[in-house]
Amino acid sequence: MVRAAEQMETAGGEQRGSEARAAERPGEPGGERRGAGRYAPSPSGDLHLGNFRTAVLAWLFAKHEGREFRMRIDDIDAQRSSEESAKQQLLDLATMGIGYEGRLWRQQECCSEYEKALEALRERGLVYECYCSRKDIAEAVRAPHAAPGAYPGTCRDLGESERAAKRAELAERGRVPALRLRAEVDEWEVRERFAVGANGTGANGGNVSDGSVGGVYRGVVDDMVLRRGGNVPKVSAGGGDAGASAGVNAGADAMGGDAGAGAGADAPGGPVNRDYAYNLAVVVDDALAGVGQVVRGDDLLSSAPRQAYLAHLLGLPPVEYVHVPLVLGPDGKRLAKRDGAVTLRDFPGGAEGMLRWIAESLGEAVDVSAAEAAAARGITPAALLPTFRPELLPREPVIWRPTGTPAD
Ligand SMILES: [Zn+2]
Repeated sequence: MVRAAEQMETAGGEQRGSEARAAERPGEPGGERRGAGRYAPSPSGDLHLGNFRTAVLAWLFAKHEGREFRMRIDDIDAQRSSEESAKQQLLDLATMGIGYEGRLWRQQECCSEYEKALEALRERGLVYECYCSRKDIAEAVRAPHAAPGAYPGTCRDLGESERAAKRAELAERGRVPALRLRAEVDEWEVRERFAVGANGTGANGGNVSDGSVGGVYRGVVDDMVLRRGGNVPKVSAGGGDAGASAGVNAGADAMGGDAGAGAGADAPGGPVNRDYAYNLAVVVDDALAGVGQVVRGDDLLSSAPRQAYLAHLLGLPPVEYVHVPLVLGPDGKRLAKRDGAVTLRDFPGGAEGMLRWIAESLGEAVDVSAAEAAAARGITPAALLPTFRPELLPREPVIWRPTGTPAD
């Protein structure tokens, strides 16, 4: 599915083409089917009120536009993910009336696709090894004129002898380098339906449109990590535990003399580093599942240009973004478990209570009493759908205040 090199020239045309398609209605004669919407929770604990509100919105946006809805377990971070969490989250989402079409997607099952994408970029000389520690990067970005949060390019233009030395230095400590994208732009523009920042700027200094349909968000693109470094991987390509250090040495030899193509390739038969970065995984995932619309919390707005640029390089169709405001706790910070009964298990009134809270938080965008009248057993996302008017959604973050506390 990853078409790489030949797409560079045609990508602009593709983008215009997809905008034209987006104007067509599903089922219309000659109209092409719209990409699906999706929700993609990370299985590292219970979903909370803020997650459910975003999930309900993602479902409403998709269904309002006649899109299918996909569900994906974002378990690329294997250490922080658990199967137990994934099961509970899916159960909770079903209880909240958020269904999906097609198979359940899991990032851990898509690693070969991430590797293919990495390989496609590698073949074009767009991948290089980075030997920096977090501390190195933190110190380098303090330099004047550095884009906030952007990688300063320390390892971008190292010579092969410097690379060999740094690689050996890491290997001695049982570590492997990260792989970064050799970005050819500093900024990228994405289609953003609903960004924050009515003042015209968003996170990372990006510019945000007035939020009207067809708006754009322009933000920073840097040499993002494609595969993380860290400890030498223990798992070999064939499974099992075949000699980690031998694999690294073989890898270093294989890379010698060629800084571009083949950079960071794993040794054949040696251990495989599957620590793909989220930015790479999510772009491949959305394309695999036919996703055309990404509704998510606006804390991810500044990642959108990086992800869209990667999709462009990989010849994948651009998605439309809808970054919605987060639910905040009483302290004005992002909602967290410390804020009280915010999981489905604890929420006052359970799923019914939570759906009512979410419906009321959507302001003029839904008709809560019409939904109540339509659904005999409490409000459901499906009951909210007929009156959903996305253009009336509140653009400010919503604040959760636990009931019955003195602060309420
Ligand atoms: Zn570096």
